[in-house]
Amino acid sequence: MSRDASLSDYAATDSDGDDEREAATDDAADDPDAAPELDGVDPAQATYAWVPDGAACDRCAATVTARWRDGDDLVCADCKDW
Ligand SMILES: [Zn+2]
Repeated sequence: MSRDASLSDYAATDSDGDDEREAATDDAADDPDAAPELDGVDPAQATYAWVPDGAACDRCAATVTARWRDGDDLVCADCKDW
């Protein structure tokens, strides 16, 4: 009788770099609502803000579309302490 392909057969025949994809699939199955996690990153605070119509820089009041977080402020590229 013919044998059915199993997951272990698939992994064995496609073992080059396949571990990552299996791990990701596993996470999604465990908790489908979970967002991808980034270790050491606080998801509550964005480091970058894009406003299509422009918004005032917290430091120089210039109207810009892209601002970066610098401390508690959202500042323009000129004010950002890179
Ligand atoms: Zn500024």
